[in-house]
Amino acid sequence: MRIVLLGPPGAGKGSLARVIKDMMGIAHISTGDMLREEMKKGSPLGLEIKGLIAQGFLVSDEIVTRLVEQRLQNSRDSKGFMLDGFPRTVAQAKDLDNILAEIGKPLDFALNMEADVDVILMRLTGRRVCRKCGALYHVRNKPPKAAGVCDLCGGELHQRCDDNEETIRKRMDVYMANTRPILAYYEQTGRLKKVDGNKGTPDLSDDLVKISNEDKKPYQDQNSGRS
Ligand code: ADP
Ligand code: ZN
Repeated sequence: MRIVLLGPPGAGKGSLARVIKDMMGIAHISTGDMLREEMKKGSPLGLEIKGLIAQGFLVSDEIVTRLVEQRLQNSRDSKGFMLDGFPRTVAQAKDLDNILAEIGKPLDFALNMEADVDVILMRLTGRRVCRKCGALYHVRNKPPKAAGVCDLCGGELHQRCDDNEETIRKRMDVYMANTRPILAYYEQTGRLKKVDGNKGTPDLSDDLVKISNEDKKPYQDQNSGRS
């Protein structure tokens, strides 16, 4: 399965990708995580990225697309991949199609997850992340056993620099202006599928498995017709 996960911040893309990765062994490629790794290095590029992320702005297409291209070209993702947070502009979506055509791994589909503003704000303002392993928690919906400590690795939990209400609202504006237009791009080429991002991760992962099975059917029917 090779898909992109679309939807506003807080729609549950990262949580869904983590579950599907564990369940099906499909790679989870998150540009947000890749950029935060770069940020941690404290390099000039990392500092530039941090300034943009902390204010809710997008990092340039050029920087992000280069990171994704390198990751996809060097990958051994035999079971496929889920791209989370990329593409975020129509230019990135077109570049992605070109990169995947070159390596002979076209997308199966784009999955759009949309959620209501109040759900998004509740999820993101309460989100906590493990500094060490990246596991996700929520102060109310998914608290760790011991406050501030990761259940899985004992790492320290922290709040992302962009998970405050002001920056979340900015990220949603940026989503509406730059990212939402991508939906039409995938719709026009018949590759857009939808799920309800207000649902919890277990229901969403059931939905995704169902959609990916249905997506395979036309090929299976063709094959059985021929034999
Ligand atoms: P979320 O989906 O919760 O907004 P991400 O972790 O995907 O969070 O992204 C965090 C930030 O990283 C974005 O607000 C943006 O500044 C930057 N970023 C991530 N992916 C991209 C991308 N494809 N293009 C430009 N900027 C990106
Ligand atoms: Zn951890």
